[in-house]
Amino acid sequence: MTSRSLTVGLAILLFAHGTCLSQQAAPQPSSPWMNASLSPDLRAELVMKQLTLDEKIQLVHGIGWGPLVPGSPVPPDNNGGAGEIVGIPRLGIPSVQQADSAVGARMAAEQSRYATLLPSVLAAASSWDPEAAHRYGDVIGREVRAQGYNQSIGGGVNLARDPRNGRLFEYAGEDPLLAGVTVGHVIRGVQDNRIMGDIKHYAFNDQETGRSVVDVRISNKAARESDLLAFELGIRIGQPSSVMCSYNKVNGDWACENDWLLNHVLKGSWHFPGFVVSDWDGTHSTEKAAMAGLDVQMPGDEYFGEALKRAVTSGRVPLRRLDDMVHRLLRSMFSAGIVDHPATPRSVVDPFRGLEDAQHIAEESIVLLKNDGTLPLNAPSVRSIAVIGAHADVGVLSGGGSAQVDAPGGNAVNPATPTKWGEAVYFPSPPLRYIREHAKGAVVHFDAGTDASSAASLAKSVDVAIVFADQYMSEGGDSPGLSLPGRQNELISAVAAANPHTIVVLITGNPVTMPWIDRVAGVMEAWYPGIGGGQAIANLLFGNVVPSGKLPITFARSEADLPHERIFGMTPVSAAGDSSGQWAADDPKRQSFAADYNEGACFGYKWFDSEGKKPLFPFGYGLSYTKFKYSGLQVDPARKTVTFTIENAGALSGTEIAEVYVGLPKASGERFRRLAAWQRVELNSGQQRAVTVPLEPLAIATFDEKKDAWAWLHGKYTVFVGGSSRDLPLQAEVALY
Ligand code: BGC
Repeated sequence: MTSRSLTVGLAILLFAHGTCLSQQAAPQPSSPWMNASLSPDLRAELVMKQLTLDEKIQLVHGIGWGPLVPGSPVPPDNNGGAGEIVGIPRLGIPSVQQADSAVGARMAAEQSRYATLLPSVLAAASSWDPEAAHRYGDVIGREVRAQGYNQSIGGGVNLARDPRNGRLFEYAGEDPLLAGVTVGHVIRGVQDNRIMGDIKHYAFNDQETGRSVVDVRISNKAARESDLLAFELGIRIGQPSSVMCSYNKVNGDWACENDWLLNHVLKGSWHFPGFVVSDWDGTHSTEKAAMAGLDVQMPGDEYFGEALKRAVTSGRVPLRRLDDMVHRLLRSMFSAGIVDHPATPRSVVDPFRGLEDAQHIAEESIVLLKNDGTLPLNAPSVRSIAVIGAHADVGVLSGGGSAQVDAPGGNAVNPATPTKWGEAVYFPSPPLRYIREHAKGAVVHFDAGTDASSAASLAKSVDVAIVFADQYMSEGGDSPGLSLPGRQNELISAVAAANPHTIVVLITGNPVTMPWIDRVAGVMEAWYPGIGGGQAIANLLFGNVVPSGKLPITFARSEADLPHERIFGMTPVSAAGDSSGQWAADDPKRQSFAADYNEGACFGYKWFDSEGKKPLFPFGYGLSYTKFKYSGLQVDPARKTVTFTIENAGALSGTEIAEVYVGLPKASGERFRRLAAWQRVELNSGQQRAVTVPLEPLAIATFDEKKDAWAWLHGKYTVFVGGSSRDLPLQAEVALY
């Protein structure tokens, strides 16, 4: 018997109960809750009337580690994802099959399936394009549905409070408005496919170091104005079926049993009607968690199985609370459409459609950081090119952890060996191949970049040197510093010294420092660009696509400029302090410690602005191959709209992301501006357009702790408009409230 069939055999024994249920007749279409014209809440209530206590308990926990841990039991209907909640077949309630799918569906290869690798979420945020974000979610929703899942557990929106966080690539940057809008639209895209969506990790799981022991300290005001605002906006826009609570503690209580976070803010202030699901093994109690607002324990049942049943029968957890937990799950299932439109594995997704979408998003999200005029490369006139480093001959890097998508054909750098957690996986979208396709008349050489001097001598002999540099990041660890890992800085410096036309393409999860910045001709931040990455990078290098992405995160000059010199709990690797950006797996045996987020809501560009520090590249920054001019600012205080004109004053068509920032009245005590609106504007050369954008009220509000409510200050607000947080040519003072 193979281990797989043994597992299935065990599962059949262990899930005999579920098997019996699944053999019972499906409900008649006439069952009252199958009437799709009734509200999801009413339909959930009608089901509730039929449920036994055991069935209710069955709906508030998962089946265990299942396919995640080989040898764990899996029920016969299991779809191979990260989690499953066994349904009630006799009532037509399907099992919830959950797919990790932050940047594409995970765990496809084992089931002989294909999943599209999208660019990182941080990349999607660099497009500042809600439509691209929607398309991002649409790829995920349609592919998880085609694979037989009915819930996507992505939707990461933790803010980039620290640029060394190992999971930044799964999140949407440092600003609550940009992050909330981006992730909200991703969730909409997912749920438009009649798939339950999710938002995570609620809240303040802003570092991986000690993520399951750290106690985050933050004031309610700062919490509401920063990370929680991103969640508030993401939930308002996306209306996800579930919120995943995080591993860490917040102000002394685990996030998954934190009454303030779950009951008070999420369900109270925001009226969230869906269910709260724990991160995997993020549940710590039965009664406390249930009463604090946790609805579903994942992946197993230690606290919400028999223990919860005993707590309910003994009255320690009221039956009405269990009913509320079940109601929240069922109403989400009806509301998402997974009961009326069951997801059945169709086994194939359309890889070409996925590629087209992924490439489009990558092309909108690559940020041009520096250009001395060498870019775009003129294909007919370039005679020789050296492509160097980062395995650009075989593919592009992806991010790891539970966001890892399986590469078709295996890891492009090591196809024969099955990939392991914590290993850098490359996808077969080789930039070298697409550069060659563009530069048909040129000789294009490749050098692996492992030896700086041989790379430099190749670079010396060519017209243009394109150095690829990358940085692997993953869940379960952070990087001690902001440098490119390994000896890549040395490589870039050597190549730049050999050839004045050196272009650097960064394939990184996070911002990095660039000690060689003054010596290179151009820099592109391509993030993890996904399965269409090679094509997208080449299209931008040769000007077939004009760059339009802008940074959703500040690039610092050094760790010393950040609010905290080191990630909390991160021990310096060398006595002098380590600035290596090499991802470092966390020590799972660490003791609990506190992380005092005393910077409050003032991090990222807000920190750099209020401290008067000069970033390497500011938030909102990104170059184009054309130029834009701003004029004619008008603010309508009654409507809270901002109008201005943008002109494309360059020679090429292009898209500008016009950004609106607001400085609050003096009484706020803030020494920074806040992003309050933006608009992507596509203009032909010479064209101009007047643009009107509404200010997001919560982006310019302060949180009044005493009233436990948002408040708007009276007095003079300063409205700024321009092309980045540090390039704001238009300015007006106005009393908005
Ligand atoms: C991660 C979640 C993920 C879950 C299931 C956890 O370790 O933090 O983001 O959804 O595992 O794989």
